[in-house]
Amino acid sequence: MDSKKAIVVGAGILGLATARALALQGYAVTVIERSDKAVGASIRNFGMIWPIGQAEGKYYNRAMRSREIWKDIADVTGIWYEEAGSLHVAHHADEWQVLQELQESFTASGRTVQLMDKGGISKKYAAVNPDGLYGGLYSNTEIIIDPREAVAKVPIYLKEKHNIEFIWGKAVTNVSEGMLWMGDETMQADLICVCSGADFETLFPEQFDALDITKCKLQMMRFTDKNSTRIGTSLCGGLSLIHYKSFKAAASLEKLKERYENEMKAYLDHGIHVMVSQNKMGELTVGDSHELANTFDPFDKVYINEMIISYLKQFALCGDWQLTQTWHGIYPKMTNGKTDVFLKPLPGVYIINGLDGLGMTMSFGFAEEVISTI
Ligand SMILES: Cc1cc2nc3c(=O)[nH]c(=O)nc-3n(C[C@H](O)[C@H](O)[C@H](O)COP(=O)(O)OP(=O)(O)OC[C@H]3O[C@@H](n4cnc5c(N)ncnc54)[C@H](O)[C@@H]3O)c2cc1C
Repeated sequence: MDSKKAIVVGAGILGLATARALALQGYAVTVIERSDKAVGASIRNFGMIWPIGQAEGKYYNRAMRSREIWKDIADVTGIWYEEAGSLHVAHHADEWQVLQELQESFTASGRTVQLMDKGGISKKYAAVNPDGLYGGLYSNTEIIIDPREAVAKVPIYLKEKHNIEFIWGKAVTNVSEGMLWMGDETMQADLICVCSGADFETLFPEQFDALDITKCKLQMMRFTDKNSTRIGTSLCGGLSLIHYKSFKAAASLEKLKERYENEMKAYLDHGIHVMVSQNKMGELTVGDSHELANTFDPFDKVYINEMIISYLKQFALCGDWQLTQTWHGIYPKMTNGKTDVFLKPLPGVYIINGLDGLGMTMSFGFAEEVISTI
């Protein structure tokens, strides 16, 4: 008996994860991507697979399932990854208080985190600025991949392992029940999944219009270290504590946020918090800012990058790092606090989207969950 046919629109990480999940359900899958290779949010990020930031329960479990799949794929394909964990550092007493509360709360829910004092951090992580350092919270669940490598290699793996076909360089211009168009060309399928990332304009614009959704632009930078030092973990300064949902578990977080609002308003206005990941070659990815709109100026703001670097210097010893690249990325952002979208606009047609700044962390798990319900 012939397999049922499925088409996935978009070869970003969510399209790739959806294609994988469909193949595992027995579909013969084709992925259609309008560019010659994926160049969207999925190659512009830190490559952080980030369970630490996810709220307890469904979202944490989704992140951990994705982590498992990333490791399986990377082990088979040779895609580089590092189980670097994450270190959130405190250079203020109120940040240290929040980290202590988080350690208690995370430990109670079974997460493997540990508080590190200044001496312990300095011994192990030379990139952390010891000046004014109170301590840090280390978690061992975070993984780093290089998104530029991984998002290029996963399609090769999907073709070899699951016989998934890829059509590159063709935009899908219309979708109806069981059929889609690439200009004049048509293709038929039993199932069509639209994973079009931040493009709300081309396919099902009326569905996106009806959602509480906008776009988020982030400015990013890459550095090389003259001394080629490995930083040993992914590093985050205090401002990241108000960025991720899981950190709301700390009772003192609101007080910390109040201080930031009083003392660092410009940072909050630009949604700046600062994280550092390091890839196989030793390059350091640093970001980011968050700007919300439906349409953005294409021009990056130098002063935002300068604010990010200025904050970076407060918690990292980065004097020997040289700036080599700047770019920005855009992802879909729900304005109602949700971090996923799964819609059925037509029989046999699904929109899978809306993973916010978490797509590398969540896509594999989310795709498995939603495809299992089809
Ligand atoms: C700067 C930045 C840093 C981030 N850091 C992290 C991180 O460290 N960890 C993490 O978990 N998440 C991170 N994220 C979030 C993550 O990158 C996104 O959630 C994820 O990449 C979204 O994947 P996607 O497949 O939905 O979108 P995309 O990667 O944008 O892919 C959508 C694809 O669909 C294609 N497409 C659209 N319309 C059509 C059409 N009509 N026909 C054919 N093709 C079409 C596009 O060309 C594109 O390739 C970050 C995001 C950014 C921007």
